[in-house]
Amino acid sequence: ALTAGIVGLPNVGKSTLFNAITQAGAEAANYPFATIDPNVGVVEVPDARLDKLTEMYQPKKTIPTTFEFTDIAGIVKGASKGEGLGNKFLANIRQVDAICHVVRCFDDENITHVSGRVDPLDDIQTINLELILADMETVEKRIARVEKLAKQKNKEAQAEYEILTMLKETFENELPARTIEFNEEQQKIVRGFQLLTMKPVLYVANIGEDDVANANKNKYVQVVQDFAEKDHAEVVVICARIEEEIAELEPEEKAAFLQELGIQESGLDQMIRKAYHLLGLATFFTAGVQEVRAWTFKKGMKAPQCAGIIHSDFERGFIRAETVSYDDLVANGSFNKAKEAGKVRLEGKDYIVQDGDIMHFRFNV
Ligand code: GDP
Repeated sequence: ALTAGIVGLPNVGKSTLFNAITQAGAEAANYPFATIDPNVGVVEVPDARLDKLTEMYQPKKTIPTTFEFTDIAGIVKGASKGEGLGNKFLANIRQVDAICHVVRCFDDENITHVSGRVDPLDDIQTINLELILADMETVEKRIARVEKLAKQKNKEAQAEYEILTMLKETFENELPARTIEFNEEQQKIVRGFQLLTMKPVLYVANIGEDDVANANKNKYVQVVQDFAEKDHAEVVVICARIEEEIAELEPEEKAAFLQELGIQESGLDQMIRKAYHLLGLATFFTAGVQEVRAWTFKKGMKAPQCAGIIHSDFERGFIRAETVSYDDLVANGSFNKAKEAGKVRLEGKDYIVQDGDIMHFRFNV
């Protein structure tokens, strides 16, 4: 499964956030095969469509889909110099598919800041610089390997060399690799380098309790948002301390508490949704009287592959999929009515599944 790693300087609220994640954690009974790694927190992906489908089908059981966050330990500063724990930090980041970078955006005299003052931009750059330096090393090693061949007009080496030069220049300007607009062919080559700064980033601005209702007035948040734009990254604003409280509440209590706080959706729920989209993930549904269930797939996957997410037999014996979009289903009121209206399609093995599709797979056993 794809996972987003949580990183940040000490004392920015990572543990508090990760605590909220594990507290809010997915109901273990639904996911018997979920990883039992203390550094991994499995959360349910909030999706209003699932509630609507439950209302329509009145199933015995409703099962949301899940998403994993990984708590990344290790020492940040000097990590790229490769000493002990720093090395581990980079190695752990290499293993995740996206980065949730927690940034301290709250003032609190009682909580020490590693550099002595709250300065989100400086914090962000401290970590980013380590990642850039690590990537720079990767790139320089490769340059040393292909330079000669490229000068001898070897086509492949030339293509690679051109990319490496672009990367090097970008790193010299202290920018991440993801800010470069590569064409498709170049992207394939770059993927092979496994660069840390190619990974999608979500900045998690951790604000104080008093700022929750007016998050955009927080001066630090504005700074993070401006930076994120240049950095080709996204931002979500949360208050980790409050998320910890919310995570302990029952669903009805949670709704009341959010209303009291003057917010529509909890920060953690927003964070889950954003990280999910950042990874290019989408959801299809299976729906019946027994069970309504959401499933995660990667955008671009075809119907048989999606069937395989449910069970490998479904993929092997795939014949067709009866498919209706969520909007068409809801607009018509029921599956049968959608069928009468010609909105239920029979799709074959080349169908690219769309976010929100309700899928009914037909297969040979
Ligand atoms: P970590 O070192 O990044 O894991 O940071 P922690 O989660 O341990 O948080 C460091 C301290 O900051 C703890 O005392 C937290 O209670 C506190 N903290 C975390 N989030 C907030 C917040 O939103 N507001 C305030 N006032 N304190 C917070």
